[in-house]
Amino acid sequence: MKMDTKGLKSFIDEEKIWDLLDKARSPEKKRVREVLEKARQKKGLSLAEAAILMENDDPELIEEMLHTARQIKEEIYGNRIVLFAPLYVGNECVNDCVYCGFRISNKDCFRKTLSRSELILETKALENQGHKRLIMVYGEHPKYDANYIHDTVKTVYQVKERKGEIRRVNINAAPMDVEGYRIVKSAGIGTYQIFQETYHQKTYADLHPRGPKSNFLWRLYGLDRAMEAEIDDLGIGALIGLFDWRFEVLGLLMHAEHLDKTFGVGPHTISFPRIEPAFGSEFTEKPPYSVNNEDFKKLVAILRLSVPYTGMILTAREPIEVRNEVIPLGVSQIDGGSAIGIGEYSAKDKESFKKSQFILGDHRTLDEVIKELAKQDFIPSFCTACYRLGRTGEHFMELSKPGEIKNFCQPNALLTFSEYLLDYASDETKQIGLKLIEKEEKKIANQKLKQEFEIKLDEMKSGKRDLYF
Ligand code: SAM
Ligand code: SF4
Repeated sequence: MKMDTKGLKSFIDEEKIWDLLDKARSPEKKRVREVLEKARQKKGLSLAEAAILMENDDPELIEEMLHTARQIKEEIYGNRIVLFAPLYVGNECVNDCVYCGFRISNKDCFRKTLSRSELILETKALENQGHKRLIMVYGEHPKYDANYIHDTVKTVYQVKERKGEIRRVNINAAPMDVEGYRIVKSAGIGTYQIFQETYHQKTYADLHPRGPKSNFLWRLYGLDRAMEAEIDDLGIGALIGLFDWRFEVLGLLMHAEHLDKTFGVGPHTISFPRIEPAFGSEFTEKPPYSVNNEDFKKLVAILRLSVPYTGMILTAREPIEVRNEVIPLGVSQIDGGSAIGIGEYSAKDKESFKKSQFILGDHRTLDEVIKELAKQDFIPSFCTACYRLGRTGEHFMELSKPGEIKNFCQPNALLTFSEYLLDYASDETKQIGLKLIEKEEKKIANQKLKQEFEIKLDEMKSGKRDLYF
């Protein structure tokens, strides 16, 4: 693969970012309230408006902002939370990202790539938890080329354990060339996710000293090439703690704007993982720009208000208390029952996986996560209907922007939740969940939809699976 970046120029205008932050400094109360008023119209915010919210330090106005974010989230996404799990396929890596346990210079890292039979075992273990949606994660290594990723995805889709099956596989892997993306797309992937890590070019160079990932522009344009290969379902992200979070959020928004302007479709999801301790990485013991919980909540709320229709992902890197507080501010997807050791889901001896890429903050099982969500009146959803009906990219945006998607989403979420309860839930979770479904069913306003929903629910109880609108 030739990493050709000739003629490319970064679309992250660093000068503009600093200028926006400078101009937004110490904003007047009135101006902050005007921005919040605009956010309530669910049309998103300009970069300058987002910068104003970042620079606001008034506790009362911060509270108003968090409240607005909760409102917008509720209006667009209702009380649904999509659940997924990461599946780490291999941790061989030729890069040297200073914050990652898998980096090439970490000689203590136990390197492993799942064999086909191990991959099948891992998938079965995930299906037995009740998972339907995965993100498959790969180090960057010549072994993990497009054909390899294609074949491993295909393998996962083929595994059917009892009533279980994986219905959507997303990918987090190194950027490819257009031909590579075409090959991966043909395996039927959902989202292709690449995190830029930091949008600040000098910091990027310092933290990625070796290997193909040291090429900032190749990575920055990674999702443009995916789009050229007609993968229109893309995930962007920044690793929070590498540089000033305000700069990173404006970088993420500039990236989203770039994709929207160039291809008419913004990113499907945004991720904002905070750096976690990684074994053998001194850097992660004290990240230079670590973000406290208060600023983290601000960051999430600002993203929610700036791009109200873009999915937002919060992973089990965060501890339970943080997840509980942050989810209502705008998160649409979380993972549950996650393990990030290679082969950990199906392993008997979990101790040996202590030396992972980084350390997770939330160790609950999927059933525990679901029970907690349901107790808080969130509907855990395993829905994959849009992707399977081709409602992605531009088509998805058309549906989701006016909030129309909600019509399908609520009943679909309830159907997949009920499927989980019937097949996998503990007795306690089942009890709590069935009550929630009953309550939510009453809220479906469209009578025809409600009737059809009830028919599908009955079919499900008598053994049918995978029902959706
Ligand atoms: N190797 C591919 C890459 O770097 O894009 C994909 C897999 S990598 C394991 C997935 C993501 O994990 C990275 O993009 C990075 O943001 C995140 N990550 C790495 N080290 C981390 C750490 N110490 N804490 C939290 N997230 C980390
Ligand atoms: Fe390799 Fe990705 Fe870890 Fe960097 S973040 S060392 S590329 S696995």
